[in-house]
Amino acid sequence: MSENVTRIAFVGSESYPFVKTGGLGDVMYALPRALRREGCEVRVILPYYSCIPEKLKSQVTWKGSFMMDLCLGGQSYFVGIMETEIDGVIYDLIDNQEFFSWGNPYTGLWEDIPKYCYFSKAALAILNYLDWIPDVVHCHDWQAALVPVYLRTSFAGTPVGRARSILTIHNLRFQGICGLQHLKYWSGLPDYLFDYPVFKQSDEDANMFKGGLAYADRITTVSATYAEEIQTDFYGERLNGHLWYHRGKLKGIVNGIDVDLWNSRTDHLLPAPYGEDNVLEKKKENKRALQERLGLQVDENKYVLGLISRLTDQKGLDLITAVFQQMLDDRTQVVILGTGDPLYEDSFRYFENTHPGQVCAYIKYDESLSHQIYAGADALLVPSLFEPCGLTQLIAMRYGTVPIVRETGGLKDTVEPFNEFTGEGNGFTFDRYRADLLLDAVERSKAQYFDHRDVWNSIVLWDMAKDVSWEHSARQYLDLYEELKTMS
Ligand code: ADP
Repeated sequence: MSENVTRIAFVGSESYPFVKTGGLGDVMYALPRALRREGCEVRVILPYYSCIPEKLKSQVTWKGSFMMDLCLGGQSYFVGIMETEIDGVIYDLIDNQEFFSWGNPYTGLWEDIPKYCYFSKAALAILNYLDWIPDVVHCHDWQAALVPVYLRTSFAGTPVGRARSILTIHNLRFQGICGLQHLKYWSGLPDYLFDYPVFKQSDEDANMFKGGLAYADRITTVSATYAEEIQTDFYGERLNGHLWYHRGKLKGIVNGIDVDLWNSRTDHLLPAPYGEDNVLEKKKENKRALQERLGLQVDENKYVLGLISRLTDQKGLDLITAVFQQMLDDRTQVVILGTGDPLYEDSFRYFENTHPGQVCAYIKYDESLSHQIYAGADALLVPSLFEPCGLTQLIAMRYGTVPIVRETGGLKDTVEPFNEFTGEGNGFTFDRYRADLLLDAVERSKAQYFDHRDVWNSIVLWDMAKDVSWEHSARQYLDLYEELKTMS
């Protein structure tokens, strides 16, 4: 490779196909691939969790190991490097039994703080060890937020210290907050960083994300609207002042999806794959198969509303439960796929029990069923309280499923409200966080579906034609990397 090739190291806590709990896992998979297509050299650095599927574990090769100091006492910890390559993207998985042998990536903050202090430091150490020095270390969310800080402190005089850093906010709600002494101990970072401009959050607490945001050369987040929102009290999760202070280096770049992975024409998980030419007819087939699989009344004329989501407050589920009975009528079915807060899990189970054959609450994480819902549902509900970008509405559109969303964050930037007078728009939206407004949006969608099927069909086609790929956004990231490369 020539010297001009841009080298990017991605550092984050999850990436499909190794481990995925939400949108971060999708982005860590899709963006490196898009950058590779743009000619970049890309490595993705992840923990080698024990929950990584055996099939993938059997494909990695051991690249070496060394001992690394961590903590105030300078204890030595083992760092193993397991490597594999998928379609030109190199994955370096950091092996350490003490930190990564749990079943899930996230096991509670008390353990997660040491785990991701170790991970962030080891990520930079392996780049030096492999003698692969990136132009930019692109870090993701609070789990990788110590990387920009280590880069300018412990690693400043080492080869990787030449790299620039970007920290991307995928969700500001999670920040890695703990006692000052806990972070001081595990990070081993010097005392002067534990003041208000960097890690200190209150007299007792330190905040990992806050420190990383202060030290990163650039901050990005996953939509332009969210970049503005997080500088306000309502969306800022108590970091709005900090982000406003650093706004000069903050930019919103909207996420895309991997259009090869999410391709209704080649998706082998679908009972009846389809494209724009036959979506209207094949969607009915997928709907019937979905109804059959989930024990719903099999009837292609029902209006099927889908929800694929972590079941947490963020996702606007209290709006859905508040008007659930009104949304349902004998022409409508609802399919829910998600896990999370027991309050919502139980509410949706209750609706399933009280409406057999009409509601299905599938309380699990199930990749294959998610594909079938994207293909078989008519519309997808995303009424979030806040939504940095949101991927489910993008996948839905790609599969010709009409999004019904609240106008916040990336939902606002990616879904154009349908206007019944001009016939323009590709989804149904509402602005304020109110259940009656969600119900109104659902009613408006039903009116088109049942009474103006030709208009509904054109919305479906319009959705499928929308460019939701990474291409445009990957180029925006590339511009940012180029700009950082030339920074002295
Ligand atoms: P977030 O990152 O906040 O969870 P996003 O909309 O950005 O939300 O991304 C969610 C991703 O996780 C999508 O790819 C969606 O299909 C997937 N997903 C969410 N819940 C489930 C589930 N229960 N089963 C399968 N996939 C799910």
